[in-house]
Amino acid sequence: MRTWEENVRKVIPYTPGDQPNRPKMIKLNTNENPYPPAPGVERALKEFRTDCLRLYPDPKASVLAEALSERYGVDQEQIFVGVGSDDVLALAFMTFFNSKKPILFPDITYSFYPVWAEEFRIPYEPQALDDDFRIIKEDYYRENGGVIFPNPNAPTSLAMGISDVEDIIRHNQDVVVIVDEAYVDFGAESALGLLERYDNLLIVQTFSKSRSMAGMRIGFAIGSPLLIRYLNDVKYSFNSYTMSHLALRLGTEAVKDEVYFQETVSKVIRTRENAKKRLSELGFCLLDSRTNFLFVTHPEYEAAKLYEALKAEDIYVRYFDVPKISQYLRITVGTDEQMEALYAFLERYEALQRKEKQVWTV
Ligand code: PMP
Repeated sequence: MRTWEENVRKVIPYTPGDQPNRPKMIKLNTNENPYPPAPGVERALKEFRTDCLRLYPDPKASVLAEALSERYGVDQEQIFVGVGSDDVLALAFMTFFNSKKPILFPDITYSFYPVWAEEFRIPYEPQALDDDFRIIKEDYYRENGGVIFPNPNAPTSLAMGISDVEDIIRHNQDVVVIVDEAYVDFGAESALGLLERYDNLLIVQTFSKSRSMAGMRIGFAIGSPLLIRYLNDVKYSFNSYTMSHLALRLGTEAVKDEVYFQETVSKVIRTRENAKKRLSELGFCLLDSRTNFLFVTHPEYEAAKLYEALKAEDIYVRYFDVPKISQYLRITVGTDEQMEALYAFLERYEALQRKEKQVWTV
């Protein structure tokens, strides 16, 4: 090792899902929305004048914060906007998790949490889920340096009831509690209603899933004005101009079209509910997803093998080679057509497996 390398901040990075670019692929691996953004987004893009690009964007992201404050019925000073919720979450870790006591989050959850904790030297203690992959709220009723969990959780897809979410917050009023609501629009109850009772609650959401804008990179947090002020102080000591003119313009259009938003979310939910039925018929066991993805296992298939077989067909899903979930696949809900292609392949796969088994037993 060179001498200067001793001083390098060494991290084990987060591994994002593949972003292959194959013409006929069916991409069900990174929980993107299969439908385009609201029509107003495309219109705004066509009308976008590049002249403004000479100038720095508004560091306060005011137009977008204003649109969000109207949509969610909170004051503008309760909103923080960032480059995807990853940016918002990373800044929130840096800002609020600054204790010597460990922060708590589930052991099976968004795998970026331990990465940020390591990077920012935050002690952490993952809390095991129960045998049904549910968060055990009582495990969070003890001294800690902060709490974070997604609701619904990922990759399990399961949502916690709002009274259980409140129980966790109520037991943790001396630390900041972050509820990561990346998937909340697909069928869980948001913790927004709890904001007036808890000034230590930070809710983080994203445009990447329900608003079909993963490629634009927009996320936001809603919390008490005091929490948001602290978050802004850290942002302004790091990078003031995070949101580009274009992201602000297009993001604002997306928030304004509530009808399109509701329609798109309903379509995804309908396809997901149908997928639960179809995949069960194909012998899969699946958790009761409240997200835009399904977390599935099959008693007779090796998940890693099925993952490879799907990939060979240009159907991409997500496989996590980690303890407790190595027999599971995470499948994003696509269009009905994409899902039909998935079921058709799974039927062929079933027949193939049966044949293979016969060969072995003969
Ligand atoms: N939280 C959870 C639970 C997620 O699954 C994701 C998506 N990978 C994110 C946050 C981050 O999403 P984005 O940065 O696209 O907003």
